[in-house]
Amino acid sequence: MSGDAGIIIVGAGECGARTALSLRENGYRHTITLIGDEVHLPYERPPLSKQVLLDEAGPQAPAVLSDIVLGERAIRHIGGASASAIDTLGKQLILSDGRALSYGKLLLTTGAAPRRLPNAPTGGRIFYLRTIDDALALRPWIRADMHVAVLGGGFIGLEVAASARSRGAKVTVIESQERILKRGVPEPIAETIADLHRRNGVIVKCGVAVRGIEADERRVDISLFDGDLISADVLVVGIGAQPRTELAAQAGIAVDNGIAVNERLETSVTDIYAAGDCCSFPHPLYGGRRLRLEAWRNAQDQGMLAAANLEGAARNYHAVPYFWSDQYDHTLQIAGLVDEGRTVVRRDLGDGAFVLFHLDGEQRLVAASGVGPGNKIAKDIKLSEMLIAKRVVPPIEALAADVNLKSLLPKAA
Ligand code: NAP
Repeated sequence: MSGDAGIIIVGAGECGARTALSLRENGYRHTITLIGDEVHLPYERPPLSKQVLLDEAGPQAPAVLSDIVLGERAIRHIGGASASAIDTLGKQLILSDGRALSYGKLLLTTGAAPRRLPNAPTGGRIFYLRTIDDALALRPWIRADMHVAVLGGGFIGLEVAASARSRGAKVTVIESQERILKRGVPEPIAETIADLHRRNGVIVKCGVAVRGIEADERRVDISLFDGDLISADVLVVGIGAQPRTELAAQAGIAVDNGIAVNERLETSVTDIYAAGDCCSFPHPLYGGRRLRLEAWRNAQDQGMLAAANLEGAARNYHAVPYFWSDQYDHTLQIAGLVDEGRTVVRRDLGDGAFVLFHLDGEQRLVAASGVGPGNKIAKDIKLSEMLIAKRVVPPIEALAADVNLKSLLPKAA
């Protein structure tokens, strides 16, 4: 227990909300204050680039915490509030309106913010996508008579492209790298996704940088270094995200590609923890390498671990990283970390679906990635995740053949 001052959580996204809920589920009895800079109750972000844009999620994204749950669990939510400073000696959080809130323990789940395009106009017909307000502002533009230009062939850009095509819009994706999904997605999978987009009518332009952007109230013109000029109705920029570390850095908390935490999610300052997109942490499955994961599952898992550790459990974080992305009728999924230079074994599953198994120098399974329609790859990725967690060295022939991966799991003692 952390004393009567209770726990304050700064950041009311998936991770912060999950921590608050878990604290109560674990029986924590003191005050929990959840502070968010958005006015909304905590909501799910994955639908923002899909169902919300297509108007299939109702007027809002699905709530993670409703008013009713907040009331029942006695979680105090302060929305529309920004934390401006931490008094680490006096154990107080200062809000920008001057309020000072005392804490016994503090958790930072401040998330990440979209990387902004330097030297480009803002507002008008140029959109970034991170919040429900961003998605609702973009939604009216996702329709058949629009040309939607997308800058960045990452997860945001490609999911928005798929949504826009399903509404019949003309779509052009511009990626500065030589291929889409360069970061963390193996080339054969990225190629399959690029083909999928092309077959659905998206123009995918890779390996070309933007020379300049001009926007007025009628158009957005994007000129490229290959001489092309893309004249669109709207531009969606998805060029990555940056951890929100300002509050921590100002308070003297160590920052290293995110708020630096140890395996128990403790920062360099006593009684202050960090979790989710905003933090970097050492991962035991990857030689203690410091990772920062921008992923829904990581936000959930770290939120639950933070809840336990805020109450003194002192558990280490070792969950296998997991990402997924749904585009058209296809899913891509990755368990573990895909690094260059690994041995890769391929398993074909029919209908164009396949899974790649990534082995380290000792032939240990360290990642599995796959793509395919529907839920074709789901079972293999799920079982791979278990094999990775158990540090299994699987027989390569069994991976390539259609052997049930369950049979490769160590037998329970
Ligand atoms: P992202 O996945 O990092 O992809 C951004 C892409 O844009 C990268 O390939 C990047 O290349 C490229 N890029 C950077 N600068 C560019 C420029 N000036 N012109 C053209 N391309 C440029 O980031 P994101 O798609 O913006 O997503 C933002 C965050 O939302 C991430 O945290 C992402 O994981 C999360 N998200 C996740 C999902 C999911 O898991 N399904 C869905 C939506 C969003 P470089 O690598 O060279 O920078």
